[in-house]
Order: sequence, then C-alpha cells, then structure tokens
Amino acid sequence: MMHEMALAEGVLGIVEQTVKGQSCTKVTKVRLEIGELSHVAPEALRFCFKAVMNGTIAQGATLEIDRTPGRAWCHDCGQNVPVSTLGAPCPECDGFKLQITGGEDMRVRDMEVE
Ligand SMILES: [Zn+2]
Repeated sequence: MMHEMALAEGVLGIVEQTVKGQSCTKVTKVRLEIGELSHVAPEALRFCFKAVMNGTIAQGATLEIDRTPGRAWCHDCGQNVPVSTLGAPCPECDGFKLQITGGEDMRVRDMEVE
C-alpha cells in the first residue's frame, strides 16, 4: 500500500504540473497505463488515488486504468513475445532468456479537465 500511495502522489504531481497555467478549475478524469508486469495493485492504487486527490484540483476525479501487456525479447528464438508474468518462459520456445521490453511501468496517458 505504501508503494501505491507514493505512486498516487506521483500522479498528483503530474496532474498539477499539467494543469499549471491552464484555466481549468477541475480535473474530472485521469487515465493511467499500468503495465501488466509492474508491481502495482490497481485496487490499492484506486484507494490511494482517492485519498491523495482529496482537497486538490483532482478531487473526485475518475481514475481509469488501462493495463498494457508485457513484452519481452527472447534471446533463444530471437523474437518479440508477449509475457503475462515475470519469470514465465517464452511462449514460443519455452526458453527463459527473456529480456523484458515493455509492460513494467506506469504512466499518465491523459486527463480530462473542466
Ligand atoms: Zn523464445
């Protein structure tokens, strides 16, 4: 939960940075992309998001979470493959020499303001 709290505070920082200097008075929706391989628990993040946004320009904003699939480069079969969990073998050749190339991070995709 501490982890998600820090992430929610990071999101607030991005939101405040984005609306700075704009004439909007309210952020109504924030859309996040969370990689399937990241260690973020969406439900915990929702809870923290609500708590952190309380009393800010994004109070009551809807949080939308898109999960982005994990991707990896397989050194054994030499191709880009989908990965659903860390430590899982290559779905093509069952090899374990996978280098994760996507789906590990979280970012703010966009937001709606009034
Ligand atoms: Zn492979």
